[in-house]
Amino acid sequence: MVAAPMPKETSSFDAHVKRLRACRLCTGVHGPPVLGAVAGARVFLMGQAPGPREQREGRPFVWTAGTTLFRWFATIGVDEALFRERVYMGAVIRCFPGKMANGKGDRRPAPAEMAACRPHFAAELALLKPELVLAVGRMAIDEFLPAGKLDGVVGQAFPVTRDGHRFSCVPLPHPSGLNRWIQSDAGKALLRQGLGLIARHPAWRATFPEARAPGGP
Ligand code: SF4
Repeated sequence: MVAAPMPKETSSFDAHVKRLRACRLCTGVHGPPVLGAVAGARVFLMGQAPGPREQREGRPFVWTAGTTLFRWFATIGVDEALFRERVYMGAVIRCFPGKMANGKGDRRPAPAEMAACRPHFAAELALLKPELVLAVGRMAIDEFLPAGKLDGVVGQAFPVTRDGHRFSCVPLPHPSGLNRWIQSDAGKALLRQGLGLIARHPAWRATFPEARAPGGP
């Protein structure tokens, strides 16, 4: 018996995910690539780069920063399981860059590595056409907006056009425990404002029709 052919969109999406998982273009990083692939997602989360635990588990944001990140989304009515099920999770680079020479933190990816990884996002844009992109952390924000302070961008939504595709970009700070900005009163207020924008965005509401933010719409 011959199996029925897959719908074109699904087979292109699966081919992309397979190609991405097999990517070994950069020699200085630790693969395999990490992603949260969700076919048909209208919301895309762009992180910075996976850490060692994410690389081991093959899923983004599995450690302490993830706990904080999903706590933020819980305040607008979406828990971690639901988020992972419906939001495509990518990153500026998809492989763990390794530790810094002094061992104190993860190495910042080289510009060449970021450039090498960009076509994966371009393919995702073409396949998914997400209407809402959540840029998490400075490095992810810099992919879409001119360099500037977090205070100047968190709490706002920006129209962005990339590769002919237009979407709304909502910057969020990195949820790392080392990020002191998110512990400040001003940072917390801007973060709440940004989460409110996400909760009200049509793509978010369509993705999570059951979500009702406390005190929200
Ligand atoms: S960082 Fe990106 S481009 Fe480089 S090997 Fe990993 S998936 Fe491929």
